[in-house]
Amino acid sequence: NKLLVGLTGGIGAGKTQVSDRFADLGVTIVDTDVIARHVVAKGSDGLAAITEHFGTKVLTADGQLDRAQLRELVFNQPEQRQWLNRLTHPMIRAEMLVQCQQAASAYVVVVVPLLLEGDMHQLVDRILVVDVDEQTQLKRTIARDNNNPELVKKIIASQIDRPSRLAKADDIIDNSAQLCDLQHQVVKLHQYYLSLTEK
Ligand code: ATP
Repeated sequence: NKLLVGLTGGIGAGKTQVSDRFADLGVTIVDTDVIARHVVAKGSDGLAAITEHFGTKVLTADGQLDRAQLRELVFNQPEQRQWLNRLTHPMIRAEMLVQCQQAASAYVVVVVPLLLEGDMHQLVDRILVVDVDEQTQLKRTIARDNNNPELVKKIIASQIDRPSRLAKADDIIDNSAQLCDLQHQVVKLHQYYLSLTEK
């Protein structure tokens, strides 16, 4: 069984920057956001089940999932949201594991933004947190997306708090400095993860 490293961190903490550097080192990256879209793509079993449950009003004119519409439908209905999660989460987990086991590299980095908020952390061998303070998170996210600060603050508040996240980490990347500093930390971790696979 492959060594699975779960990469997480708050919004704008630098998950993509970190995973790009692991990819440069030849490590396979499995992105659960991509998988989550894939399992409800046009023509998928997932989308068929959602349409059967909620009706064709969750479809756009060209037969794709209308995410905004679905979000609205489950927004104030915990039992509907639970139904949706019970459908999609096992599919996401299964596809994630398939992609990891098929990976050519010695270990895999699985990017899961909400790794510690959900139960995906049970499937990984190590939890890697990319960490910055909230001010930096806010500054970089706004600079990237041109979002309003209040929205970003709300998202930060909806995620696990920084001390709890750090307490659950096996490994931590400090992304408060420059990107070249990040590179150095990734290379060190890469060597460490490789050493774990040789045992
Ligand atoms: P999200 O949770 O929103 O997907 P993320 O955790 O993947 O975000 P990134 O997109 O990697 O975060 O980084 C957020 C922004 O900050 C990007 O524009 C990125 O280029 C920039 N950034 C990341 N790390 C640094 C750094 N060390 N110095 C300067 N800018 C950085």
